[in-house]
Amino acid sequence: MKFIEASRYYFEQAAKVLDLGPRLTRQLVVPMRELKVELTVPLDSGDSATFVGFRIQHDDSRGPMKGGIRYHPSVDPDEVIALASLMTWKTAVVDLPYGGAKGGVNCDPRTLSPAELQRLTRKLVDRMHEVIGPNLDSPAPDMGTNAQTMAWIVDQYSNYHGWTPAVVTGKPIELGGSQGREAATGRGVLFALEAYLADNDRVVRGAEVAIQGFGNVGSWAARLLAEQGARIVAVSDVTGATWNAKGIDVAALMKHVGATKGIIGFTGGEPIAPADVLTCRCEVLVPAALEGQLTAANANGVQAQIIVEGANGPTTPEADEVFRKRGITVIPDIYANAGGVTVSYFEWVQNIQQYRWTEERVNQELRTRMIQAWADLKAHSGKALDLRQAAFQLAVTRVAKATLLRS
Ligand code: NAD
Repeated sequence: MKFIEASRYYFEQAAKVLDLGPRLTRQLVVPMRELKVELTVPLDSGDSATFVGFRIQHDDSRGPMKGGIRYHPSVDPDEVIALASLMTWKTAVVDLPYGGAKGGVNCDPRTLSPAELQRLTRKLVDRMHEVIGPNLDSPAPDMGTNAQTMAWIVDQYSNYHGWTPAVVTGKPIELGGSQGREAATGRGVLFALEAYLADNDRVVRGAEVAIQGFGNVGSWAARLLAEQGARIVAVSDVTGATWNAKGIDVAALMKHVGATKGIIGFTGGEPIAPADVLTCRCEVLVPAALEGQLTAANANGVQAQIIVEGANGPTTPEADEVFRKRGITVIPDIYANAGGVTVSYFEWVQNIQQYRWTEERVNQELRTRMIQAWADLKAHSGKALDLRQAAFQLAVTRVAKATLLRS
């Protein structure tokens, strides 16, 4: 099943259980606005290149829309629509006063210089500044974008509308970014796992963990889980993978990746094929790279007992079915990786109030939100077969109620 079909499948399952009816179901499937733009930018060579950018605003019934901007060669309208709808459900699961959106540019950021990326980003703002803003839709980083990208967006948007740091989150601290935002998604992964384990009278200490992806989400998850006493036994990225049954020294791996831009060549573990990280011996698997990684083809080989979805949409419905039958617990993306958007919300609140929180307060409030959302999710799990269905039922109930109240 394609990613867009999978995201609709979970929504439609929930809509059916909740008896939303065809009119409301269709209203919640169709995105509120789809923007597609041509981005022609000068290259350093003196030539120019044309890219295609998207912003999909899925739903704003619960508040201004929120969602990252992805720079990646796989970006296409279907992917962005699926990701935008996941943001609607995710913000609802953690009960943030937001709707859902997502954006992307089809490009390979690794082949573009910083100057070219800056021109591309500023051009994207030229094309979409009228439909984004603190009370409309505020982007954030996703794959291939970072705090520097957000800084360019703030600057270019402010050229049109005056100083507006709240137009994006995930900014550098110096421009109104929040303490704790960079680590937030990985920290949320930790809190999600802790919540699940606490229900089973367990703690993170001693758990064997494998992680796919060592970017923002994967590297922070690795670092924070290791700090809590988990043993990180395998990690992969786009360049390679490493395995060490005694536990990988995460700080040494971070240093290696910082210096060489990839896991390949790391000497603190045995090199393995990146795909093997998904099926290696471990108790907890954290997919934190791309969508559609756990499929019917590899689900039976997964040895983990718990999967915590750091990435968006890493598990196909076919794999989900295998995991359900095998008794493997999947903590779903729309809860497990909601730490990022939650601290983005804190950043937005701080910008609007022009008041800074300490990192301690950010992390404490994130923990409170994740624990509350877990309790809400469990309260909704009555009619659901698994946590993903419970999360979708919780989210769709909240969005549907807001939609009906406003219509
Ligand atoms: P990133 O660009 O910082 O890192 C992505 C990582 O995945 C890199 O290490 C890359 O090498 C690796 N990767 C790419 N293809 C791979 C492959 N085939 N096998 C193994 N590794 C591969 O991106 P990120 O921000 O960490 O996002 C990762 C996922 O988490 C995405 O699905 C994103 O939508 C989701 N997410 C991110 C945030 C956030 O705050 N950054 C929040 C919620 C969800």
